[in-house]
Amino acid sequence: TGSGLIVSFGEMLIDFVPTVSGVSLADAPGFLKAPGGAPANVAIAVSRLGGHSAFVGKLGEDEFGHMLANILREHGVNDEGICFDKGARTALAFVTLRSDGEREFMFYRNPSADMLLKADELNIKLIKSAKIFHYGSISLIVEPCRSAHIKAMEEAKKAGALLSYDPNLRLPLWPSADEAREQIKSIWDKADIIKVSDDELKFLTKSEKVDDETAMSLWHDGLKLLLLTLGEHGCKYYTKNFRGSVDPFKVKTVDTTGAGDSFVGALLCKIVDDQSVLEDEKRLREILRFANACGAITTTKKGAIPALPSEADVEALIKA
Ligand code: ADP
Repeated sequence: TGSGLIVSFGEMLIDFVPTVSGVSLADAPGFLKAPGGAPANVAIAVSRLGGHSAFVGKLGEDEFGHMLANILREHGVNDEGICFDKGARTALAFVTLRSDGEREFMFYRNPSADMLLKADELNIKLIKSAKIFHYGSISLIVEPCRSAHIKAMEEAKKAGALLSYDPNLRLPLWPSADEAREQIKSIWDKADIIKVSDDELKFLTKSEKVDDETAMSLWHDGLKLLLLTLGEHGCKYYTKNFRGSVDPFKVKTVDTTGAGDSFVGALLCKIVDDQSVLEDEKRLREILRFANACGAITTTKKGAIPALPSEADVEALIKA
């Protein structure tokens, strides 16, 4: 695991998840409080693996906000980029586990504190010290956090950071599908590394196909690595010079929440100190095998954060 700083930018929130599936939260006999938010999960994934990470984002000045900041600190994530909004509350998601295994979300975001992050509240010094700057898309949905997002990306890039992007589409949050596509595409060509899921690939390309040609239609000139994650089917990788797939690990899956974030965290940890691996297919495949193992382990426990593995957990699965 590398020692360079990985800064993860965006939202952190709490999911309220019923203890049983097939009923709404209101009718459930109980619920769990699961902290999450893709960028926060990535920051903690990096830290769990022994890497050096910081989270940049805004929380509400309420008990949930402080709880989330404490969770980041307890996991060793640098908190110097966290700020608190005095007026707005921390983002919350109320989840329904449908009988078919899918999740439905209802969000408190009216607006939630994360959306109120302003460009002049950014800790630019921290952002400039990043070797890798990672971000999602939710902070592109509205102002002022859209401008903060773009400023943070630009500052990181200017200072020489590698930019890593996981669109992490949460469609119900966007005003419309077209708006989501437009905003995501507006920052597409800034990224050095992009990870998409099969559903995101289909959404962005408006295609029903999940094949190499469709994936490569997302390629842009400055891109160094495009990743397509396929859940229990592992992942595919595309670079300028080579492409291929890496097999998944077979595990007893309980809850897939956070698998993609764990995968990204693992990849970033392994490339942060030596980006030349992006041009070396053999070494890249080893790293993606490690990332697949991380993703797989994350599906074996409920929730995202409690399921994120340590390096020893991952080595044990790889050697098993
Ligand atoms: P996302 O959460 O972004 O949709 P995926 O679900 O594709 O991402 O998961 C990321 C990676 O985690 C996959 O590429 C795979 O290696 C691993 N993974 C996810 N689900 C499973 C599973 N059910 N069994 C084994 N590995 C999995």
